[in-house]
Amino acid sequence: MTETLDIQITKTTHSRLAETDFDNLPFGKTFSDHMFVADYADGEWKNFRVVPYGEIGFSPAISALHYGQAFFEGLKAYKHADGKVVIFRPDKNAERFNKSGERLCMPALPEEIFLQGIAAVVDIDRDWIPTRANHSLYIRPFMFATDPFLGVQPSSTYKFIVLTGPVGPYFSKTLRVKIESHYTRAAEGGMGFAKAAGNYGSSLMPAKKAVDEGFDQLIWTDAKSHEYIEEMGAANAMFVLDGKLITPTAGDSILKGVTRDSVMCLAREWGMTVEERPVSVAEIIEGAKNGKLTDAFGAGTAATIAPVGSISYDGEEYFLSDPKDREFSQKVLKTLDAIKNGTEPDTRGWTYVV
Ligand SMILES: *Cc1c(COP(=O)(O)O)cnc(C)c1O
Repeated sequence: MTETLDIQITKTTHSRLAETDFDNLPFGKTFSDHMFVADYADGEWKNFRVVPYGEIGFSPAISALHYGQAFFEGLKAYKHADGKVVIFRPDKNAERFNKSGERLCMPALPEEIFLQGIAAVVDIDRDWIPTRANHSLYIRPFMFATDPFLGVQPSSTYKFIVLTGPVGPYFSKTLRVKIESHYTRAAEGGMGFAKAAGNYGSSLMPAKKAVDEGFDQLIWTDAKSHEYIEEMGAANAMFVLDGKLITPTAGDSILKGVTRDSVMCLAREWGMTVEERPVSVAEIIEGAKNGKLTDAFGAGTAATIAPVGSISYDGEEYFLSDPKDREFSQKVLKTLDAIKNGTEPDTRGWTYVV
């Protein structure tokens, strides 16, 4: 079904484009001129509109603020040399959006509203898409509960909003990471697989402790034994061990990343053995010691492919090879960049043209 949405467009009278410093784009601080908004009430999505980016008013009693009925997505748009604008695998994000919403007892959003809402706002702000290397337009769709009611129950009204903003590289250096063996990000039966706002709230304190100790990121481990690796900060953890690509199985407690999936697809095409399975801390530490761990990186839309320089565990720091010498992650990063930027043809149907 590809019904065209009736989207009402109100353009800004003062574009902030000219006063935006594209040489200095810290992640998530710069927003494009417009945003897409839709309302859910009486059992349906309505009032599709593109409006100037700006503050919106709410009752202080809205349930999103008190009980955390809120979740989001993250994806990116790229501008090719010929001016063509593409979004990377948005159908995957649309699908995951509804998995998150279902877990939080929030209404489904039809894929065409997700895709057309994003396309409308990316289209109107296409001049905001940076073209320089490692830059893109970050797209942040999210949904939250708006009933002004303090009872603990699912809201009956919601808002779906899409913000966008130009971004440069998320991490500018090789990461020093620590394996976390006390705090937990997500547990079996919980909502780790959802991009639920609450998952990030609970990760902040342990992540800050790690930063205070001089680390860049945490590697989360399983809630029960802390013996198995789960994720790396807000990115998926991927390793090349003994020549095989390995990554933890995406169960309840792991966010099933689009980047993770793309990396596995490429590795398989290149004839590499790919294993989605429980990955133990012990085998990673052993591999770091004996040199069989030849690659380790975080994979995510914001972080792209973020190489790990050292892994600390139990007070010991284990150093890995120089990221510039890592064959696999270098090739993956180059290939993904080429597909997104249009310098290599998209033979996999991964780009959605706006
Ligand atoms: C968003 C996210 C990822 C990466 O997912 P992508 O679809 O590749 O962007 C991984 N882990 C967590 C916890 C995340 O929030």
